[in-house]
Amino acid sequence: MSIAPAGPPVLHIPGEIGEGSGLLVDNAWRAPVTGTWLDIVDPATDAVITRVARGGAADARLAIDAAAAALPAWKALAGIERGRPLRRMADLMLRDEERLGHLMTAEQGKPIAEARGEIRYAAGFLSWSAEEATRVYGETVPAFVADKRILVLRQPAGVAAAITPWNFPAAMITRKLGPALAAGCTMVVKPASQTPLSALAIGELAVEAGLPAGVFNIVTGVAGEIADVFLGDPRVRVVSFTGSNEVGKRLFAGAAANLTRLSLELGGNAPFIVFDDADLDRAVDGAIASKFRNGGQTCICANRFYVQSGIHDAFMDRFGAAVRALRVGSGFDPEVNVGPLIDDRAIDKVEAHIRDALERGGRVTIGGHRSAPRTGLVDRFFEPTVVDRVTHDMLITSEETFGPVAPVMRFDHEAEVIEAANATPNGLAAYFYTRDASRLIRVAEALEFGIVGANDALPSTPQAPFGGWKESGLGREGGKWGLEEYLDTKYLSWGL
Ligand code: NAP
Repeated sequence: MSIAPAGPPVLHIPGEIGEGSGLLVDNAWRAPVTGTWLDIVDPATDAVITRVARGGAADARLAIDAAAAALPAWKALAGIERGRPLRRMADLMLRDEERLGHLMTAEQGKPIAEARGEIRYAAGFLSWSAEEATRVYGETVPAFVADKRILVLRQPAGVAAAITPWNFPAAMITRKLGPALAAGCTMVVKPASQTPLSALAIGELAVEAGLPAGVFNIVTGVAGEIADVFLGDPRVRVVSFTGSNEVGKRLFAGAAANLTRLSLELGGNAPFIVFDDADLDRAVDGAIASKFRNGGQTCICANRFYVQSGIHDAFMDRFGAAVRALRVGSGFDPEVNVGPLIDDRAIDKVEAHIRDALERGGRVTIGGHRSAPRTGLVDRFFEPTVVDRVTHDMLITSEETFGPVAPVMRFDHEAEVIEAANATPNGLAAYFYTRDASRLIRVAEALEFGIVGANDALPSTPQAPFGGWKESGLGREGGKWGLEEYLDTKYLSWGL
């Protein structure tokens, strides 16, 4: 089926089976056992784009059956053979970048250039993993006695399951799928209910790429029910989750039943620090990219700004001008930098944070309101906003705002800002700008975060380990570290 959402373009709906988009099990699209369907809505207009299967426990079990049946043949393949369909999937995603980008903007709202960029980024996890599949090395270790040999083997953990969020509907899938399949696991994915179409489109391309049946299955539907099946089925050895701390902690408790291995990519509260000696242009460009990409709905986006006194006023002038120049509107408008927020709950949270900041002495210097930028769009857009005079007792600095709002604080001393930056239970990403090489190393080492961007606001890439310290999660995604989540170690003691 092809339908037009709010104007151009015409969308190709993936996995369409009449009533809506089906579940992908064993490389076939099927209706849910539940017989129920979910509307998928364009967040910019509230127009229904299509429907997807509202799968439940029985559907999750069928998908696990398929993944378990496919496992022996898949893990028996040489790494280079597992890599081939992954590489083809990456190439197909790049071939279809425009189509997939449009689908993502329709279901998620982000500007079309960002959506296309996410497709390239997402394909990168597949092509990186395709190569890494050939490098799952074991080790030999010298024994204490002459008549023994010690071999350490790395083997696939088994069936893996993934639960992914709405803010990066394609990349959060491939960041798990690529390494899982490269390692020799098979996978069942439960995408976010607000943005399942990108996942289903990747599923279609997996079939086209010749991925064997059952290796990659997709179950859309009721999150809690599906997650309970993942954690309750002893065949599922790894559950990889990206999302909120609240759900991550719930999964952590549930994983105790079968001691299921968890990989958790949870929330952040990233500090963005500008020292007096920073390159001002780079710091402003980085601040805009980090804060306003995806409308601020990014787990690693700057959540609180610290600007040193000597550069504060100059930074605020240039940063303010750059914020005022941002255009808000439909993601399909190529001139737009900031699209809608994902839902009403998200915009309510942004407003609550601003209200709280104002009550506690903060001051909005730019923006501060929701809007509907033009006829036909709903009022789920938020003006790019700057708030100063903020303090650490405010929601806006202590919680993820997940919106286009930049709270700014002034500081004087390095030690003071490190202490403030680290004073959060989360530890995902942190940023700072300086031209002093000694300070760069000192500050990078002192920050208690899994990802540190020094003079760099966009650190995420398929080659590097992505993940958080403290309550931001467990494990890493990306690079050779990403495969570790899906491998088990076997010690083979060989008597001669
Ligand atoms: P969320 O509510 O935790 O949802 C994420 C996923 O979990 C969705 O697929 C959701 O399904 C599912 N889910 C909801 N309730 C569940 C339950 N009881 N059991 C199992 N799964 C459940 O998070 P979100 O609000 O969509 O995403 C935003 C959060 O993700 C932010 O905190 C952000 O920082 C974090 N994030 C982290 C990273 C990272 O790499 N660290 C990357 C992106 C986002 P439904 O959609 O069906 O409800």
